[in-house]
Amino acid sequence: MSFIVAIDGPAGTGKGTVTEILSKKMKLVNIDTGATYRCVTLAMINANVALNEIDKIKEILNNIRIELRNENGGQAVILNGEVVTEKIRSKEVTSLVSQVSSIKEVRLAMAGLQRKMAEGKNVIMEGRDIGTYVFPNADVKIYLDANVEERAKRRFKQNQEKGIDMTYSEILESIKKRDENDKNKEIGALKVASDAIVIDTTYMTIPEVVKTIQEIVQKKKKEVDLQEKIYRVRPDTKWHRIQRKIIKTICSAIYHVVYRVKVTGKVPDQGSYIICANHVSYLDAAGVVIVNKRKVSFVAKEDLFYNPFLNWFLHIFDIIPIKRNMQDMEAMKRCLKMLKSGDLLGIFPEGTRKGLEKNVKLKNGAAYMAIKTGVPVIPCGIKGTFKPFSRVNINFGDPIDFSKYKGQDKEKIDEATQIIMDNIIMLTNKEI
Ligand code: C5P
Repeated sequence: MSFIVAIDGPAGTGKGTVTEILSKKMKLVNIDTGATYRCVTLAMINANVALNEIDKIKEILNNIRIELRNENGGQAVILNGEVVTEKIRSKEVTSLVSQVSSIKEVRLAMAGLQRKMAEGKNVIMEGRDIGTYVFPNADVKIYLDANVEERAKRRFKQNQEKGIDMTYSEILESIKKRDENDKNKEIGALKVASDAIVIDTTYMTIPEVVKTIQEIVQKKKKEVDLQEKIYRVRPDTKWHRIQRKIIKTICSAIYHVVYRVKVTGKVPDQGSYIICANHVSYLDAAGVVIVNKRKVSFVAKEDLFYNPFLNWFLHIFDIIPIKRNMQDMEAMKRCLKMLKSGDLLGIFPEGTRKGLEKNVKLKNGAAYMAIKTGVPVIPCGIKGTFKPFSRVNINFGDPIDFSKYKGQDKEKIDEATQIIMDNIIMLTNKEI
């Protein structure tokens, strides 16, 4: 999995400088996409190829080898085996590159190359269209901006340091022309992505810009790492099963000391079933897991996994995290996979604890899956206050088969959900 930071914006906003510093500070691979377009431009100049000679340009693209190497604290650019780090910043290349990068064939080839360069890596990528075209799903999107005079001033100073001979007005004109050209490209035009964070650097120092972006990236990286920890599917290894057995034995002993547990009905020893229960406390899910010899994987809200101990614990029991308040297709896929493998899936149609009391609309995921897969539903009514030493009744009903409810008709699914819930309520009130 890659982690992508996209830094877009026009020339002279400090993208290159800031990207280089951040890449070192945050151990991200630095990919300067402008350098790839500059390499194509240099290759065209070297081969005397004009902008309208598409066949010759295609040939150059077919044979081009571009490498960006992070070395000696900077980035070396290698074109077909030759180091061209300085050459690609020349006046000739700079004045032509924007037009070269507007050629459709060039854009498609370079975007492909840039995506390949980022494959499986954590990268910081600077350019014009990274957040909009190359990586529209980038984890962080920054758009750097500054007024054009300030940008020209910065580029003038930079060029003087590098010994590139261009006057301030030449640079100002060149930047204005490039801005215009970049904004009007057919593919990958320079524009602000709707979910980008715009930073106007006109009156900011480089360390200020770096600090601002670093904080944004760090926050996002933490979120992404946490999501990865929560959603990574753990293989059900032997060690995993041993841990589950030990923990279940201990929890079961404690549960039976603290509560007077009474179970009626039974879950079959084999085959897939969706166990649907009422939900008054987290301890009712624990009860269903404990009193069943077989593994029951419940679906639980993502927030529970934020705690590192709970994250580990819930994964031991193959609990499936679900994002609430949205259709979580990933969670749905995992549930369906579990049912296909002949396992038991636990779902609370109330969706939340004491959902019935709170008058929450019933969730119809269980009914949807039962109809889709033909897996029967086992209703389960749980009665208990879960006060220490009180009685807890766990009543399993007979499996309900919804296979005659063909199709994905919403009314049918709602009807099936209501049948499940009615059965659960009946079992909750069952006299023992
Ligand atoms: O960033 P730099 O100034 O080196 O980029 C050179 C030129 O390459 C830009 O003016 C722009 O026309 C083009 N470019 C692009 N898309 C990118 C990066 C650069 O069109 N992602």
